[in-house]
Amino acid sequence: AKATGRNTVVVFDPDDPQSSDDSEDIAATLKIALEHGLVHLVYQPIRNVQTGKTDGVEALMRLRMLDGTAVPPDRFIPVAERTGSIVKLGRWAIRTVCRDLLATDLVQVASVNVSPIELKTPGFASYVAATLAEFDVAGARLAFEITEGVELEIDQDVVRCISDLRALGAQVWLDDFGTGFAGLSWLRLIDFDTVKIDRSFLHDSNTERGKRMLLDIISLLRNRGVKILVEGVETIEHQLLMQQYGINQIQGYYIGRPAPAARLETGNVLPFSM
Ligand code: C2E
Ligand code: CA
Ligand code: CA
Ligand code: CA
Repeated sequence: AKATGRNTVVVFDPDDPQSSDDSEDIAATLKIALEHGLVHLVYQPIRNVQTGKTDGVEALMRLRMLDGTAVPPDRFIPVAERTGSIVKLGRWAIRTVCRDLLATDLVQVASVNVSPIELKTPGFASYVAATLAEFDVAGARLAFEITEGVELEIDQDVVRCISDLRALGAQVWLDDFGTGFAGLSWLRLIDFDTVKIDRSFLHDSNTERGKRMLLDIISLLRNRGVKILVEGVETIEHQLLMQQYGINQIQGYYIGRPAPAARLETGNVLPFSM
């Protein structure tokens, strides 16, 4: 069993034909996904705690197999990374987000998850620049989320790519903070605009020990001067606690579930304000 993310354990047994078939199917589907319209993006609202308004959304990728079955990203993203499909899919996601942003002024910033493989592929930042220009979208309306848990060697190329993105006005966020060991050293190497605290910390905050851990992380990030977003806000109590702690932004099922792009235009991605 291999842990691929919070609350998700994918059992992969190479001797089990079911497991390996599944991976091969996914790999094959990913290759034809764009031409067959098997991928789409959904957007989850991000709420500014000070204003109570949704000022951002996170783009999350969805995949359907040819038979219509949905495959969760925790299952297909690793396959896309292993096979290299992630590079094309990632570019498609950036292009789609720019197009969707153009269609609405209700959302200021959309964040896109990027895999280290994309960052390491030469031309990433110039692709972003060209796409922003094509749709005439301001760079400041894009944020890139880089996950802490992943294997990424922060070398000169990565640092240059990130500074190129920031030169375009785009933001760079650190995702799933606290889930790996890299976070602290990454904070020293990269000037992140926002750090997203992994939802496990909020969910464990119902115990004294859990609450302490969350508060320690918050004060550590404050000392670094980054903006803080807490993930996994599922209840009114969670939201009140985040207000009390002075968190900048929150995201979670209580604020809103991921929804199709069409809802962005009507404002329905903003189910309620505080
Ligand atoms: P993530 O970037 O940490 O995204 C947040 C995940 O938490 C999403 O799962 C979202 O639906 C879920 N979530 C949001 N609010 C809540 C909540 O209140 N409670 C709980 N329990 N969960 C919540 P999703 O969409 O299944 O995505 C899983 C992961 O797949 C993402 O984690 C991200 O790492 C990756 N992913 C998704 N889309 C992309 C993409 O376009 N590119 C890349 N490279 N990775 C992606
Ligand atoms: Ca993310
Ligand atoms: Ca996250
Ligand atoms: Ca994640």
